Amino acid sequence: MSHLINVSNRLPITIGETIEQSSGGLVSAMEGTVGLADLRWVGWPGKVVDPQRQAEVDQYCQQHGLRPVYLDDDDVSGYYDGFSNSSLWPVLHYMSNYMHYEEEWWEAYQRCNRLFADRVLEIADNDDAVWIHDYHLMLLPQMLREARPDLRIGFFLHTPFPSFEVFRCQPHREELLSGLLGADQIGFHTFGYLRHFRSTVLRLLGLESEMTYIPHNDRRTHIGVYPIGINSVKFQQQLQDDEFKRLRQSYQQVYEGKQIVLNVERLDYTKGLSRRLQAIDLFLESCEDKRKIVFIFVCVPSRDEVPEYQTLTETIEGLVGQINGRHGTIENTPIHFMHQSVSFQQLCALYSMADVMLVTPLRDGMNLVAKEYVACQQEDSAGVLILSELSGAAEELFSALMVNPFDLPQIAQRLREALSLDQRERSRRMQQMRHRVIDFDARYWAKSFITELRSKKEAAAVTDLVETGGRIADEIAGRLSQATRLGFFLDYEGTLRNFEESPENSAPTAEILQLVERLANCESTDAYIVSGGPRQNLENWFGATGIGLVAEHGYTWRRPGSNEWETVGETVDLDWKQRFMQVFRHFEGTTPGAMVEEKRSSLVWHYRRSDPEFGQWKSQALLGELHEMTSNLPVEIHHGHKIIEAISVHVNKGAALKRLLLSGQHDAIVCAGDDITDETMFRIEDPRIISIHIGRGNTHARYRARSPKALLTLLESIFKSTTQCRTKQG
Ligand code: UDP
Repeated sequence: MSHLINVSNRLPITIGETIEQSSGGLVSAMEGTVGLADLRWVGWPGKVVDPQRQAEVDQYCQQHGLRPVYLDDDDVSGYYDGFSNSSLWPVLHYMSNYMHYEEEWWEAYQRCNRLFADRVLEIADNDDAVWIHDYHLMLLPQMLREARPDLRIGFFLHTPFPSFEVFRCQPHREELLSGLLGADQIGFHTFGYLRHFRSTVLRLLGLESEMTYIPHNDRRTHIGVYPIGINSVKFQQQLQDDEFKRLRQSYQQVYEGKQIVLNVERLDYTKGLSRRLQAIDLFLESCEDKRKIVFIFVCVPSRDEVPEYQTLTETIEGLVGQINGRHGTIENTPIHFMHQSVSFQQLCALYSMADVMLVTPLRDGMNLVAKEYVACQQEDSAGVLILSELSGAAEELFSALMVNPFDLPQIAQRLREALSLDQRERSRRMQQMRHRVIDFDARYWAKSFITELRSKKEAAAVTDLVETGGRIADEIAGRLSQATRLGFFLDYEGTLRNFEESPENSAPTAEILQLVERLANCESTDAYIVSGGPRQNLENWFGATGIGLVAEHGYTWRRPGSNEWETVGETVDLDWKQRFMQVFRHFEGTTPGAMVEEKRSSLVWHYRRSDPEFGQWKSQALLGELHEMTSNLPVEIHHGHKIIEAISVHVNKGAALKRLLLSGQHDAIVCAGDDITDETMFRIEDPRIISIHIGRGNTHARYRARSPKALLTLLESIFKSTTQCRTKQG
């Protein structure tokens, strides 16, 4: 069985006097992968380990399939407390006002991600899958991809992914996104996070995507929604345990005659504690009998090294004191506040006896506490969950009483409703949620992510079979060698070279120029470079080589070795241009960043400088209008790379190919192109044509090359074995 290398910031161990295995959401979830793969775990042991103790830690880890990444004090303060928890965490939770940034933190973050990468690479075999968890390790996918392109790499983000407007505040936003895109698959808890991620990748990296994947660099990164669950089996077992039942009974005696409202969380500013306490204060003001209710707070200490968390602790303790002072009496204290963690058994006892669970984070990737509470409810005594709309769990636990965590009167009102809800309604609501929490547990989550990760890589491998050299090159060269006169009709932008944001930057590289010169010098060969662009550019770039040039999609051309430009001439009806221009101008005026270009036989609306989403939307609207206008007119509409072009039907690359090569004595013609305008060449049914499409997507072409670079390699290898192309050179 191949390995699954799980990588998270923390290893599932706690180092104290002795080393203990620790539990937690991720540990339970990983149990779900049993049988799917042999699990290994790479992570930080959770504290700076003295060199004298490293041998002991190493030994423990080796026995338990763990690989420790040792961090020193500087690493921990820069990578963990600094960049991860003081810079990324607030941004990912929409709280950029809490974001701090120091350049040394970024350096530590890169350095530590590299340490994790080194550890993974030490143990990764062929065919292994690597599953990376969370925001501490956003650079790791790309680092691994560069070192080992063969690895299957998955990444899961346990926090929200915020809107682009928030994520853009992070100074290293592009590097972080590129780091993530090293993965084959990225998982989120909700569709909302996925949507924001796609939009951010589009806006910051210019990468358009589909709902389920992002194509880039000849690869695809798949994206998907995998809501994490809890270890429901463990909770079910606990509810049957005798010790648990005794503990629950003893708590019930303590709180006899009171309704219990429970709060459980790490002490973190994302959890909305201050606002919740203010809402409780509001509630208590109008509460008729305060002796009949108790609010229990379990606040687990968290991130004590980060200054914001120290301030927060003081604020919360102050607020609790004020509320208890205002509403307490000699016999009654409304809020029981514990700034400490509790045991699993105590936690389950509290969950199972609480009438109301109050979960009101301002933002939360998922919120497991809400699901754990649901799992601990029993049919005849079910409680009520009050849940923040802004938690990931709200997408699934829709029978909870929902609140906007910023709306304090609403929280107070929901509390009143929850406390007076009759038992039948409580049970009905809880039943709906229990089914989901129990069925879709942590194991289900891990298994579905891993299964998809494995299948996606296999699918990608099939696509990669599209060859660019070897057999196909030999086949094409074989056909060319039998011909007496050859033709080449090669599109330029997107085919011989990658697209540039602005056409002025599309000048040929030295490699392309060399290839073009070689083509121009082949014996018994007529070669053309074809473009939708103006002839001036082609002339500047290739004029001196003597190769044939076709500009404006075939409206004008210059034959090989000639300096004369010819055009399709007066016969072409261009009266439609005037009417179309009005529409194009209107869309130029109402789309910031868009511009209209007028060519002799066409009009082009460019939107590459517009807001990418708005531009895309407006392009659809323009397409709709143009299609309505074109009926019975000799016009074709093309939607190209960030352009919409209206062009005479008499002018296209296919017509140019017919005019310049197919009417001649050429018995083998190689034509290559990458977009819809090139399909006019590929659709011509003529056995002499050898058609090559660049990139993915539907095409009528016979062959396919993955990228311009792959086409150059293919042409290079064709030249080597084709006599005509060698004769003059040799
Ligand atoms: N928890 C704990 N000790 C406690 C109280 C709670 O380990 O004393 C656990 C709780 O059972 C839950 C986790 O802490 O599994 C909190 O996860 P959640 O997703 O709600 O929030 P996070 O802390 O990950 O932001």
